[in-house]
Amino acid sequence: MSTVLVIGAGGVSSVCVHKMAMNKEIFSDIHLASRTKSKCDAIAKSVKERTGADIATYEIDAEEVPAMVNLIRKVQPSLVVNLALPYQDLPIMDACLEAGVDYLDTANYEPKDEAKFEYKWQWAYHDRFKEAGLMALLGSGFDPGVTSVFTMWLKKHMLKTIRQLDILDCNGGDHGQAFATNFNPEINIREVTAPARHWENGEFIETPAMGSKITFDFEGVGEKNAYMMYHEELESLAKFNPELERARFWMTFGDEYIKHLTVLQNVGMTRIDPIKYQGKEIIPLQFLAAVLPKPESLGETTKGNTNIGVIATGEALDGSGEKTFYINNICSHEKAYEETGNQAVSYTTGVPAMIGSAMVVQGKWTGDGVFNMEEMDPDPFMDMLNQHGLPWQVEELDGPVDF
Ligand code: NDP
Repeated sequence: MSTVLVIGAGGVSSVCVHKMAMNKEIFSDIHLASRTKSKCDAIAKSVKERTGADIATYEIDAEEVPAMVNLIRKVQPSLVVNLALPYQDLPIMDACLEAGVDYLDTANYEPKDEAKFEYKWQWAYHDRFKEAGLMALLGSGFDPGVTSVFTMWLKKHMLKTIRQLDILDCNGGDHGQAFATNFNPEINIREVTAPARHWENGEFIETPAMGSKITFDFEGVGEKNAYMMYHEELESLAKFNPELERARFWMTFGDEYIKHLTVLQNVGMTRIDPIKYQGKEIIPLQFLAAVLPKPESLGETTKGNTNIGVIATGEALDGSGEKTFYINNICSHEKAYEETGNQAVSYTTGVPAMIGSAMVVQGKWTGDGVFNMEEMDPDPFMDMLNQHGLPWQVEELDGPVDF
């Protein structure tokens, strides 16, 4: 039995709040606040219709720390679940410290004026959370989140050490639009257009964005082109698995997506520096995000599956030499929509956010300070994935990946 305060009312929040409401024995009192209250009310209405649960809603600018502190004091939650944007991570963490409450998010802090994905800003809060006797759990989405838990589960049950790690993220869904992103367009395009980085022999190697491509046959989807890119869990995976010789992240993109993105980049629409337009300063990427389809509007038309997983090679735990395992989840866009009114990219993030929240409020994951998913026992989280809509499978491969 616990009270939670969720911040943000996009697709990820919608899934998380629906799933929390479906688990009343864990989340007995759910509060939802965001910049646009009507979006909170729309989620609350859908939750009421689907589950019968009542959700209290509020308007908040999460970057206004005193207002956030007031709201937290009013609601008195045991956990604040940040499902707004990465820019709000630090102000919400500040508010949690001041009001004395635990914190959880799904994406690491990014400064608005630079596409830089690093944990350093949030790791710097560790001592303050520790001294306050509070817990901050970072990155409880799918990637980061489940991919880190998958890796640590393999390390707990299958492999003594991990030599090579490849994270493969495939969205085989078709939304019927010429170009749309399946989560927040601004964050998605900043991520995709940033240079690729992978971990190799103790350091990050930077290569041009979309410069390395593989073709991989994804179960439930088929053959897709996947491109190497930087993703934030590489930093925490490398930190907590110092034996890693190489760790890479791959994401699939269709030719149409690449074509549109290349044009948008070439004409300057993905720039994040302000430009003057008719006497007003605008940021081209923010303008682009405003005209692109809203991710939460894609649910109804998206068909197909996502398949996200981890391939790890290392020394087997049972002493039988080097082994390679592939662990993944396949999620149907249609089923996700039927259950929560949102497509699978929001679903695969919102469900782990609910599960991470359950770990914290039930005291299954505890600690004073700022923690990444890799530092927690993977077993109870993995059990909940199976029970709450993201079942996983693990298989042994013949050998390490050949790419
Ligand atoms: P959306 O853009 O759909 O939703 C973001 C929400 O945050 C919106 O409701 C927005 O309000 C609200 N918001 C923005 N600024 C503020 C503010 N200052 N104060 C209060 N609320 C604010 O994003 P998604 O739901 O797609 O993504 C949510 C988060 O999940 C992002 O951080 C994203 O990076 C992360 N994510 C993580 C993944 C993972 O696997 N780990 C995968 C996908 C996403 P408004 O409605 O007014 O715009």
